[in-house]
Amino acid sequence: MPEAKRVALVTGASRGIGRAIATALAEDGLFVVLNYTANEAAAHEALAAVKSVGGDGVLSKFDVSNSDQVDAAVKQIATEHGRIDVLINNAGIAIDGLLLRTKKEDWARTLDVNLSGAFHCTKACSRYLLKSETGRIVNISSVVGEQGNAGQVSYSAAKAGLIGMTRTLARELASRAVTVNCVTPGFIETDMTNKHVQGEVREALIKQIPLGRIGSAKDVAEAVRFLVSPRASYVTGQVLRVNGGLLM
Ligand code: NAP
Repeated sequence: MPEAKRVALVTGASRGIGRAIATALAEDGLFVVLNYTANEAAAHEALAAVKSVGGDGVLSKFDVSNSDQVDAAVKQIATEHGRIDVLINNAGIAIDGLLLRTKKEDWARTLDVNLSGAFHCTKACSRYLLKSETGRIVNISSVVGEQGNAGQVSYSAAKAGLIGMTRTLARELASRAVTVNCVTPGFIETDMTNKHVQGEVREALIKQIPLGRIGSAKDVAEAVRFLVSPRASYVTGQVLRVNGGLLM
């Protein structure tokens, strides 16, 4: 009988970085559960991308900020696929604004999706990850969680929170050989950046990047692919920067 495939849950996998991660993990032979929350068409395209590289997966629609939805979805994944070996906490939103213009609702929603979402998913998946012999968690934070960014008070706070959560969980789960790491992308070409950064601002940003270009979703996916692979079994509690040298 062929060995069962490792199962990976990738949150926010319908577009951008999450889709690239799902495709990379599928290329490496994992069965991928692609989570999304609203964009049905994009989710189906992402699943098609996974299949186009010879991979296999399913879609799972839920809002990471809603713990009831997360619990129900994770239970269903474990029941249908028998295991969860890898969790990639990637789902995220950015509601930008300077401090005085940031409404408390926007602060709360940004923290709910980017930080509490990772907490809910990790808690729900933890019993399955602990049973896996190759358990892996990768949290997608951001360069702005490390260095801050004017106009992103809630987003940078949430992303900094993910770094603290990564280091604590790396310590808590190490005895069962589950590794927990964080990737901090710099400026990456996706819907998120296209919506927020255009024209002269974009050109000025590129000038600050030593490698002289905006990163691609695949650049981030390659780092995640490494952290999930057996090659990274002795790497835990780390923050891996994928930012073209923007922050060293
Ligand atoms: P994106 O293109 O805007 O895609 C966001 C993804 O998250 C979509 O799949 C979206 O699903 C999903 N999502 C949003 N809210 C969700 C929720 N409540 N529950 C479940 N899924 C949800 O974003 P991206 O640029 O690929 O960013 C991915 C991650 O990388 C985010 O955590 C982001 O903060 C981080 N990051 C991005 C950059 C960058 O430059 N792009 C830099 C640093 C860090 P739907 O399609 O259903 O809406």
